[in-house]
Amino acid sequence: MSKKKTKYLFISGGVVSSVGKGIASASIGLLLKQRGYSVTIMKFDPYINIDPGTMNPMQHGEVYVTDDGAETDLDLGHYERFLDVSMSKNNNATAGQVYYEVIQRERSGDYLGKTVQVIPHITDEIKRRMTIFDSQFNIVIIEIGGTAGDIESQPFLEAARQICREKGEKNTLNIHLTYVPYIRSAGEVKTKPTQHSVKILMEFGLRPEILLCRTEQPLEKDVRDKIALFCNVDEQSVIDAVDVQTIYEVPIHYAKRNLDTIILKKLGMPVQSLDLATWTNFVDNIKAPKQTVRIGIVGKYVSHVDSYKSISEALIHAGAINDTLVEILWIQSENITDKNVESTLKGLDGVLVAPGFGDRGIEGKIKSIKYVRENGIPFFGICLGMQCATIEFARNKCGLKDANSTEFKKSKNNVIDIMDEQRTVVDKGGTMRLGTFPCLIDKSSKSFSAYQKEFIAERHRHRYEFNNAFKQVMEKNGLLIAGTSPNNTLVEIIEIPSHPWFVGVQFHPEYKSRAVSAHPLFIGFVGAALKHKNGIGA
Ligand code: GLN
Repeated sequence: MSKKKTKYLFISGGVVSSVGKGIASASIGLLLKQRGYSVTIMKFDPYINIDPGTMNPMQHGEVYVTDDGAETDLDLGHYERFLDVSMSKNNNATAGQVYYEVIQRERSGDYLGKTVQVIPHITDEIKRRMTIFDSQFNIVIIEIGGTAGDIESQPFLEAARQICREKGEKNTLNIHLTYVPYIRSAGEVKTKPTQHSVKILMEFGLRPEILLCRTEQPLEKDVRDKIALFCNVDEQSVIDAVDVQTIYEVPIHYAKRNLDTIILKKLGMPVQSLDLATWTNFVDNIKAPKQTVRIGIVGKYVSHVDSYKSISEALIHAGAINDTLVEILWIQSENITDKNVESTLKGLDGVLVAPGFGDRGIEGKIKSIKYVRENGIPFFGICLGMQCATIEFARNKCGLKDANSTEFKKSKNNVIDIMDEQRTVVDKGGTMRLGTFPCLIDKSSKSFSAYQKEFIAERHRHRYEFNNAFKQVMEKNGLLIAGTSPNNTLVEIIEIPSHPWFVGVQFHPEYKSRAVSAHPLFIGFVGAALKHKNGIGA
């Protein structure tokens, strides 16, 4: 890569959380990339956990895994899906990682008698990480997690201030994403929270030059003028980030408001032409689907939509390519019983059993799999979903009634067992089998028809695996081991050839699905669901 003069774009959030900083960062990244610049995006999370790997998805949403095996914030998934570029462990840092590093240095005596402090030691480590891609990209976008005013995010804002000071005005830019609420009883929008939020940033020495105002309705000119005046920004730099039908429309909306041109001008960069044709085509497909399929996602964390973010996005991408709207029905696995399994799943065009940990809801997942296997409904099992399919097949097709995973219950027939390399692992954080590993696919399989190639590489996050001692009995009863590690030690894909579409994968294909290049297995699954709906067998 040739050396580049890197410009830094900081994105902070204000007023409330959950207004979509991740999508805003990804959308800005896409627009700048489509203007011909090389871009990467980083996320700085102010929490003390080293990574989200040990957190409950109900609290933090999905854990996103990169090629190099980092367990990261789900916003990295948005960055990859929008930019169509792989992120790495260097694209995400937490306060925990920063403090851990500094404390380790202190223990090794590197600070030579100094008192170790937030400024400069913690902030220097944050700055080191924020500038790790220096000279590699034209633009580095840095999303600062949390909301302006949080105690935890202060060192990150201070680090951003120092970088802005050191690199100068033409090389740095601050964008602030706020929320402008509409007060129904008063019949008007309120700008005060935005003014306060900008004030907080100013106290930290950061002057936002562009304000992205999340609102339900477009903001009238007088409201934008008022925000501009009180927050000390140009009028055209107050941009209403209105709610749109799909998150993938956000870049198109920003482009209409000239956000990318404003950014480039402020950074003193030439405004090259914008190529959004493929993206717009993709969004048009999402917005005007020709048909609909109903897919049930059976999982344990279904009440929090962010828990399975990459899966639901992958279904949207695969739907767009099939001109199809994928309607998702979230199904709580704990609630499924022998009595209600039929009424719950009947009429669905496909069922996906989600990844997960621990035994809660396992029997519901197994009952669901039995139903779809016996009734020819397309099935897609991901990681734990594949493991449950293995257990179900062993119990109900191979007569191994006590088949189970060692993760849940020790039995004579642990068809899913702990991986050898995992037997001695004690610490829970970052110790699973993580990241990209290769897989060799059987040419007769549905997976091969989907990928159209024998060698693939997919991302992993697990401790347990298919127990090879049961390979023979499973194969004898009609299971196809459709994919293994190239040395044939680890089962990566199982299928039932006599079923219209029954595929279970040990890896997580959802992490590699991109907006404009949907994942082959998701395309295959949605295609099979369409055939099922239209009464066409596979
Ligand atoms: N709990 C299972 C394992 O550790 C599955 C993990 C997952 O679904 N990501 O192997």
